[in-house]
Amino acid sequence: MCGIIGISTKRDVSSLILQGLKQLEYRGYDSAGIATIAGGKICRARAEGKLVNLEKQLAQTPLKGPLGIGHTRWATHGAPNETNAHPHATDKVAVVHNGIIENFRELKEELTKLGYAFYSQTDTEVVPVLITHLLKTGLTPQAAVAKAIARFHGAFALAFIFADHPDLLIGARKGPPLAVGFGEGENYLGSDAIAL
Ligand code: GLU
Repeated sequence: MCGIIGISTKRDVSSLILQGLKQLEYRGYDSAGIATIAGGKICRARAEGKLVNLEKQLAQTPLKGPLGIGHTRWATHGAPNETNAHPHATDKVAVVHNGIIENFRELKEELTKLGYAFYSQTDTEVVPVLITHLLKTGLTPQAAVAKAIARFHGAFALAFIFADHPDLLIGARKGPPLAVGFGEGENYLGSDAIAL
Protein backbone atom coordinates (compact mmCIF):
# COMPACT_ATOMS: atom_id res chain seq x y z
CA MET A 1 0.00 0.00 0.00
CA CYS A 2 1.81 3.10 -1.18
CA GLY A 3 1.71 6.62 0.20
CA ILE A 4 0.76 9.82 -1.60
CA ILE A 5 1.29 13.37 -0.45
CA GLY A 6 0.75 16.70 -2.22
CA ILE A 7 1.33 20.14 -0.74
CA SER A 8 0.88 23.66 -2.02
CA THR A 9 2.41 26.29 0.24
CA LYS A 10 4.35 29.57 0.14
CA ARG A 11 7.89 28.31 0.87
CA ASP A 12 10.10 25.52 -0.47
CA VAL A 13 7.99 22.44 0.06
CA SER A 14 10.24 19.40 -0.37
CA SER A 15 11.17 19.05 3.33
CA LEU A 16 7.46 19.21 4.28
CA ILE A 17 6.69 16.50 1.73
CA LEU A 18 9.49 14.34 3.12
CA GLN A 19 7.99 14.74 6.62
CA GLY A 20 4.60 13.66 5.24
CA LEU A 21 6.16 10.63 3.57
CA LYS A 22 7.76 9.65 6.89
CA GLN A 23 4.28 9.63 8.44
CA LEU A 24 3.21 7.20 5.71
CA GLU A 25 6.18 4.81 6.13
CA TYR A 26 4.05 2.45 8.24
CA ARG A 27 2.17 1.48 5.08
CA GLY A 28 5.29 -0.21 3.62
CA TYR A 29 7.22 0.74 0.45
CA ASP A 30 10.23 -0.12 -1.71
CA SER A 31 11.23 3.27 -3.19
CA ALA A 32 10.27 6.92 -2.90
CA GLY A 33 10.31 10.21 -4.74
CA ILE A 34 9.30 13.87 -4.82
CA ALA A 35 8.56 16.33 -7.64
CA THR A 36 8.18 20.10 -7.39
CA ILE A 37 7.61 22.96 -9.81
CA ALA A 38 10.38 25.57 -9.90
CA GLY A 39 10.92 28.18 -12.61
CA GLY A 40 8.19 26.67 -14.79
CA LYS A 41 9.88 23.25 -14.79
CA ILE A 42 9.21 19.92 -13.13
CA CYS A 43 12.09 18.95 -10.80
CA ARG A 44 12.34 15.39 -9.49
CA ALA A 45 14.30 13.32 -6.98
CA ARG A 46 13.73 9.56 -6.70
CA ALA A 47 15.52 6.77 -4.86
CA GLU A 48 15.29 3.02 -4.40
CA GLY A 49 14.86 1.75 -0.85
CA LYS A 50 14.19 3.68 2.32
CA LEU A 51 13.42 7.39 2.65
CA VAL A 52 16.89 8.01 4.04
CA ASN A 53 18.24 7.43 0.49
CA LEU A 54 15.92 10.09 -0.90
CA GLU A 55 16.82 12.38 1.99
CA LYS A 56 20.57 12.04 1.16
CA GLN A 57 19.87 12.87 -2.47
CA LEU A 58 17.86 15.95 -1.47
CA ALA A 59 20.64 17.09 0.87
CA GLN A 60 23.07 17.05 -2.08
CA THR A 61 20.66 18.51 -4.65
CA PRO A 62 17.74 20.31 -2.95
CA LEU A 63 14.44 20.61 -4.79
CA LYS A 64 13.14 24.18 -4.88
CA GLY A 65 9.56 25.33 -5.29
CA PRO A 66 6.45 25.80 -3.11
CA LEU A 67 4.28 23.15 -4.83
CA GLY A 68 5.03 19.44 -4.91
CA ILE A 69 3.98 15.81 -4.69
CA GLY A 70 5.64 12.82 -3.02
CA HIS A 71 5.26 9.05 -3.07
CA THR A 72 6.30 5.88 -1.31
CA ARG A 73 5.90 3.05 -3.83
CA TRP A 74 4.81 -0.52 -3.34
CA ALA A 75 5.66 -1.95 -6.77
CA THR A 76 2.98 -3.86 -8.66
CA HIS A 77 4.28 -3.38 -12.24
CA GLY A 78 8.03 -3.03 -12.77
CA ALA A 79 10.94 -3.73 -10.42
CA PRO A 80 11.43 -1.58 -7.32
CA ASN A 81 14.21 0.63 -8.72
CA GLU A 82 14.80 4.35 -9.30
CA THR A 83 13.54 4.32 -12.91
CA ASN A 84 10.20 2.89 -11.84
CA ALA A 85 9.89 5.05 -8.71
CA HIS A 86 7.24 7.77 -8.71
CA PRO A 87 6.64 10.62 -9.49
CA HIS A 88 6.39 9.76 -13.19
CA ALA A 89 6.57 12.81 -15.40
CA THR A 90 6.81 14.45 -18.79
CA ASP A 91 7.98 18.04 -19.24
CA LYS A 92 4.35 19.14 -18.63
CA VAL A 93 2.96 17.05 -15.76
CA ALA A 94 4.15 14.92 -12.84
CA VAL A 95 2.01 12.26 -11.16
CA VAL A 96 2.05 9.96 -8.14
CA HIS A 97 -0.23 6.94 -8.16
CA ASN A 98 -1.58 4.43 -5.71
CA GLY A 99 -3.23 1.36 -7.25
CA ILE A 100 -3.22 -0.26 -10.68
CA ILE A 101 -4.20 1.00 -14.16
CA GLU A 102 -5.41 -2.34 -15.46
CA ASN A 103 -5.64 -1.32 -19.13
CA PHE A 104 -2.18 0.30 -19.23
CA ARG A 105 -0.88 -2.00 -22.01
CA GLU A 106 -3.59 -0.91 -24.41
CA LEU A 107 -3.06 2.78 -23.52
CA LYS A 108 0.71 2.43 -23.87
CA GLU A 109 0.33 0.90 -27.31
CA GLU A 110 -2.02 3.68 -28.40
CA LEU A 111 0.32 6.43 -27.12
CA THR A 112 3.41 4.73 -28.58
CA LYS A 113 1.72 4.77 -32.00
CA LEU A 114 1.18 8.52 -31.53
CA GLY A 115 4.97 8.87 -31.08
CA TYR A 116 5.29 9.07 -27.28
CA ALA A 117 8.22 7.37 -25.54
CA PHE A 118 8.11 5.41 -22.27
CA TYR A 119 11.03 5.05 -19.88
CA SER A 120 9.70 2.81 -17.09
CA GLN A 121 8.09 -0.61 -16.75
CA THR A 122 5.20 0.74 -14.65
CA ASP A 123 1.50 0.87 -15.39
CA THR A 124 1.58 4.44 -14.00
CA GLU A 125 3.60 6.07 -16.78
CA VAL A 126 0.61 6.04 -19.16
CA VAL A 127 -1.01 8.60 -16.85
CA PRO A 128 1.35 11.57 -17.41
CA VAL A 129 1.81 10.65 -21.07
CA LEU A 130 -1.94 10.54 -21.80
CA ILE A 131 -2.48 13.79 -19.92
CA THR A 132 0.36 15.47 -21.84
CA HIS A 133 -1.29 14.35 -25.07
CA LEU A 134 -4.64 15.77 -23.94
CA LEU A 135 -3.03 19.08 -22.85
CA LYS A 136 -1.57 19.37 -26.37
CA THR A 137 -5.10 19.24 -27.78
CA GLY A 138 -5.80 22.47 -25.87
CA LEU A 139 -7.58 21.09 -22.80
CA THR A 140 -7.09 22.70 -19.38
CA PRO A 141 -5.31 20.53 -16.77
CA GLN A 142 -8.65 19.93 -15.01
CA ALA A 143 -10.35 18.84 -18.26
CA ALA A 144 -7.34 16.72 -19.30
CA VAL A 145 -7.36 14.88 -15.95
CA ALA A 146 -11.13 14.32 -16.12
CA LYS A 147 -10.88 12.96 -19.66
CA ALA A 148 -7.87 10.75 -18.85
CA ILE A 149 -9.29 9.14 -15.72
CA ALA A 150 -12.48 8.25 -17.58
CA ARG A 151 -10.23 5.93 -19.64
CA PHE A 152 -8.52 4.17 -16.72
CA HIS A 153 -9.77 0.75 -15.59
CA GLY A 154 -8.97 -0.37 -12.07
CA ALA A 155 -8.60 1.31 -8.71
CA PHE A 156 -6.41 4.37 -8.21
CA ALA A 157 -5.61 7.47 -6.23
CA LEU A 158 -3.60 10.09 -8.12
CA ALA A 159 -2.03 13.49 -7.44
CA PHE A 160 -0.79 15.84 -10.19
CA ILE A 161 1.27 19.01 -10.61
CA PHE A 162 1.74 20.91 -13.89
CA ALA A 163 4.84 22.76 -15.17
CA ASP A 164 2.76 25.62 -16.60
CA HIS A 165 0.46 25.98 -13.55
CA PRO A 166 2.66 26.60 -10.49
CA ASP A 167 -0.39 27.03 -8.17
CA LEU A 168 -2.36 23.97 -9.19
CA LEU A 169 -2.52 20.69 -7.26
CA ILE A 170 -5.04 18.13 -8.56
CA GLY A 171 -6.14 14.91 -6.88
CA ALA A 172 -8.35 12.15 -8.29
CA ARG A 173 -9.49 8.85 -6.86
CA LYS A 174 -11.49 5.74 -7.65
CA GLY A 175 -11.20 3.18 -4.86
CA PRO A 176 -8.24 4.05 -2.60
CA PRO A 177 -8.75 7.03 -0.30
CA LEU A 178 -7.24 10.50 -0.77
CA ALA A 179 -7.62 12.95 2.11
CA VAL A 180 -7.79 16.70 1.41
CA GLY A 181 -6.73 19.39 3.90
CA PHE A 182 -7.08 23.17 3.66
CA GLY A 183 -4.87 25.45 5.78
CA GLU A 184 -3.96 29.15 5.82
CA GLY A 185 -2.08 29.55 2.55
CA GLU A 186 -1.39 25.81 2.50
CA ASN A 187 -3.36 22.96 0.95
CA TYR A 188 -2.74 19.25 1.25
CA LEU A 189 -3.54 15.91 -0.34
CA GLY A 190 -2.62 12.63 1.31
CA SER A 191 -3.25 8.90 1.35
CA ASP A 192 -4.54 9.32 4.88
CA ALA A 193 -5.16 12.14 7.32
CA ILE A 194 -2.08 11.16 9.42
CA ALA A 195 0.18 12.46 6.65
CA LEU A 196 -1.55 15.85 6.65
N1 GLU B 1 1.05 0.27 -9.86
C1 GLU B 1 1.95 1.34 -9.55
C2 GLU B 1 3.40 0.89 -9.67
O1 GLU B 1 3.70 -0.28 -9.66
C3 GLU B 1 1.68 1.96 -8.19
C4 GLU B 1 1.98 1.05 -7.06
C5 GLU B 1 1.65 1.67 -5.69
O2 GLU B 1 0.45 1.75 -5.36
O3 GLU B 1 2.61 2.05 -5.00
O4 GLU B 1 4.26 1.73 -9.78
